[in-house]
Amino acid sequence: MGVMCIPGYDHQKPREVPLEAIRDFLGNCQLCPLGQTRNQLVFGVGNPHARVVFVGEGPGRNEDMQGEPFVGAAGKKLNALLGEAGLTRDDIYIANVIKCRPPGNRNPKPEEIEACSPFLREQIRSIWPDVIVCLGNFATQFIMGTEQGVTKLRGQMYEVGHFQVIPTFHPAATIYHPDWLELLTADMRMLGAWLAEHPAPDAGVVPSEVPSATCRPERSAEGADPGVVLSEARSAESKDLLPAEEDA
Ligand code: SF4
Repeated sequence: MGVMCIPGYDHQKPREVPLEAIRDFLGNCQLCPLGQTRNQLVFGVGNPHARVVFVGEGPGRNEDMQGEPFVGAAGKKLNALLGEAGLTRDDIYIANVIKCRPPGNRNPKPEEIEACSPFLREQIRSIWPDVIVCLGNFATQFIMGTEQGVTKLRGQMYEVGHFQVIPTFHPAATIYHPDWLELLTADMRMLGAWLAEHPAPDAGVVPSEVPSATCRPERSAEGADPGVVLSEARSAESKDLLPAEEDA
């Protein structure tokens, strides 16, 4: 698949489209029914040049009210866990697979993930981190293009295209499964060890072999025909963070 047509960036390379342009493109998105029930669209927050992007599932009640991911109890747990990797919130970027809260905190539906996931793909392409940490099953399955659960996959790093991927538990899950906290802590230490062993390359430099990508015909998120967008999203490989059709 191609990348989205963000106005002004129809032949984009990684790190070329600023996050602000992607947020502007999202606008008052109504591509799926969650646009009707949310209080605030929760885009993402953090360092636009982060080496590590954390991907969660979707906004909860506090996030929906404040418009920011990982606030409240889950946010406090995440902050504590970051210390195990030698990181702070200023070092990382956090976004969710879906940007609007499902009513009653139900699980997101597949068609909602399909509608929203191109925006996460663009965010990751904009930041172009070294490592993606997937918090919970929804993030893991989207990023890794697998149906396997995080319980089976966690405990090691995986190479997905350009990225090192660490699947692990969602911090909120440790509230109901306190025994998972030890495993989550171990995964954060693994992340810290990898970062220490792999010092940051020159900031902002994208390897020359990384291709640019021509955008596919796109509409604004507000004016789009959801049926068209959903059918396009369904044809996309979810793990395909790089476009398949390359024209460097
Ligand atoms: S596609 Fe994403 S941003 Fe748009 S309404 Fe649905 S959940 Fe919200």
